[in-house]
Amino acid sequence: MKIAIVGAGIAGLTAAHDLIKKGHQITIFEAANYVGGLAAGFKESHWDWSVERFYHHWFQSDAAMLGLIDELGWSDQLVFPRPVTVMHHKGKFYPFDSIPSALMYPGLGWGFNKIRFGLVNLAIRFTNNWQTLEKFTVDEWMRKYAGDKAYEAVWEPMVIGKFGERYARQVNMAWMWARLKARTPRLGTFKGGFQAFSDQFAAYLKGKGVQILLNSPIQSIQRNSQEGLTLTTTNGEMIFDQCLVTSSPSLMARLAPELPEQYLEGLLNLKSLGAVVLTLAVKHQLSKEGYYWFNLPKKAGFPFLALVEHTNYLSPEYFGGNHLLYCGDYLETDHEYFQLTQEEIIRRFTPSLQRINPEFRPDWVKNAWLYRTQYAQPVPFINHSKNIPDIRTPIPGLFFASMSQVYPWDRGTNFAVEIAHRAANMMGK
Ligand SMILES: Cc1cc2nc3c(=O)[nH]c(=O)nc-3n(C[C@H](O)[C@H](O)[C@H](O)COP(=O)(O)OP(=O)(O)OC[C@H]3O[C@@H](n4cnc5c(N)ncnc54)[C@H](O)[C@@H]3O)c2cc1C
Repeated sequence: MKIAIVGAGIAGLTAAHDLIKKGHQITIFEAANYVGGLAAGFKESHWDWSVERFYHHWFQSDAAMLGLIDELGWSDQLVFPRPVTVMHHKGKFYPFDSIPSALMYPGLGWGFNKIRFGLVNLAIRFTNNWQTLEKFTVDEWMRKYAGDKAYEAVWEPMVIGKFGERYARQVNMAWMWARLKARTPRLGTFKGGFQAFSDQFAAYLKGKGVQILLNSPIQSIQRNSQEGLTLTTTNGEMIFDQCLVTSSPSLMARLAPELPEQYLEGLLNLKSLGAVVLTLAVKHQLSKEGYYWFNLPKKAGFPFLALVEHTNYLSPEYFGGNHLLYCGDYLETDHEYFQLTQEEIIRRFTPSLQRINPEFRPDWVKNAWLYRTQYAQPVPFINHSKNIPDIRTPIPGLFFASMSQVYPWDRGTNFAVEIAHRAANMMGK
């Protein structure tokens, strides 16, 4: 079959891999001038490794992603350091990336709260019954079982940071279950960065006969009289037997307005948040303790959610000796951070770096990059499994696989691989 794939992110590349193995003819259309989608990276000419536009790593539990890398024979190019994640409490930061370190965290108080916290964590890790958990919000479930104190100290800041005040109390408990279940303290990347992986994967696929067209946004997808699909590209129309779209639900709705009303409504009712990530190359290490990931509570006055010192995870040697910091946040797309200039964002964000290291001065900053995306984090409400659109759309031959459909898992490249396998299994028939 002649199959088109819209998007050369991890899902699009993986689906191409599966479908070319079955002997189909594959063309990937990618709007950007690079492959890798949200997991893409950038580098300066004197760096050996790239760094992701939006901080990325893999967990040791990412079976689909690690399985794909293994199948490609590239497992020797994986690295899995063990960086330290910390939480804020009364102006100080404490390690918080394992049950023992969490039990030492003073924000939880002592005694009964700690025991409850430990038991709730264990219960979540051992259960697979997310279907029951999705009936409750994180807020109501955690307050009931972990208690107000533990919830307000640990999970509430995370949920508010991730989903904002608007959605924080509506997110369902299956989301938290998936987060706690699928994470490991060791964090992985590919030698050279995620972009090196995507470039190597794209080159491999081209070698197998996949056509990858960059700078090629698809404008519309329509059913044609020959029982095929007509894709409108910037260079005219092209006809395919089948098509897989890997973009956001709202873009899918715009690309294929012929979809029946019920499916279209389902796409448009899905909610998601955008992300704003500022990367700074600085002269000196910021966290003297060598901490990697700082969860920053907005209530304590931090202007963004996560501070990530990338070079406390990977050596500055890979980045021309620079120390790299990410300052990131998830926000509704009408938030002012989507409009402000890079200079203004730097002016807003950098004063809080002195709260991590009082010696920090604005002249430490050697270079800065600002990346924003409107589609970064799907929002799962109560009983969200009912809202997930089918991969097989009602238009024959048209398939859809996005971050919004990997539920109950939270979005991630591992689940992009998994959903791409599922889509590719349904296709080519
Ligand atoms: C801030 C942030 C942090 C994250 N951290 C992690 C992490 O640590 N670990 C992890 O595994 N995952 C992480 N993720 C999630 C991960 O990036 C995604 O789950 C994954 O990259 C999604 O892949 P995808 O192929 O489904 O979609 P995308 O990467 O979005 O790919 C879709 C592609 O379609 C293209 N496209 C869109 N419209 C068109 C069009 N009209 N025509 C042609 N092409 C089009 C886009 O340019 C894009 O390349 C993070 C995401 C964000 C935003």
